[in-house]
Amino acid sequence: MRTGNLFVLSGPSGAGKGTLIGLLLKRLEGAWLSVSATTRAPREGEVDGVSYLFVSDDRFDEMVAQDRLLEWAQVHDHRYGTPRDLVERHIAAGDQVFLEIDVQGALQVRSKFPAAHLVFIAPPSMEELERRLRGRGTDSEESIRLRLANAEGEIRLKEEYDECFVNDDVDACLASLIAYVERFSEKKEEDRL
Ligand code: 5GP
Repeated sequence: MRTGNLFVLSGPSGAGKGTLIGLLLKRLEGAWLSVSATTRAPREGEVDGVSYLFVSDDRFDEMVAQDRLLEWAQVHDHRYGTPRDLVERHIAAGDQVFLEIDVQGALQVRSKFPAAHLVFIAPPSMEELERRLRGRGTDSEESIRLRLANAEGEIRLKEEYDECFVNDDVDACLASLIAYVERFSEKKEEDRL
């Protein structure tokens, strides 16, 4: 059995993390993506328990009070957090566990779980990021402006990450990401031989 690892993926909204992770989950055996809890409302097509666990403010407060979140942060206008229980269980089962979370959350994970691998997914440019956010047609003008303003701060924090991949071509970026992940899972397997 492989040894489980924890990979944290961050990057501005629109950098393409969701697409990359979707492809990675299909390609990489034993990969598991954590489903976050959030107080934001579902977007069209999002399914409770699949995209996110959509919870009330009171429920989120309860999860924080009961220490059920590995990390949590206010991102844009809402709170988001990673339920601890399933993450720990999947790592113990030997899975490659992925969190798609913001930079504040990633730094909390690093301090609580120093073995985590922090990966930053960067857009090729701010212009391209804006084009992608507008192209996805899911966010209001106000939300797009907020996401672009936050992106600059997020990109400044990329030095805190172990690795940064620029997503200018999804296939190339996916190949780099898979190679990076396999380096750790395979290394652990060799250690066991
Ligand atoms: P969105 O509202 O576009 O789905 O996500 C907004 C931001 O929240 C993204 O940057 C995403 O990475 C971040 N996010 C999603 N889940 C979590 C989480 O559990 N914890 C933290 N800290 N950030 C999260």
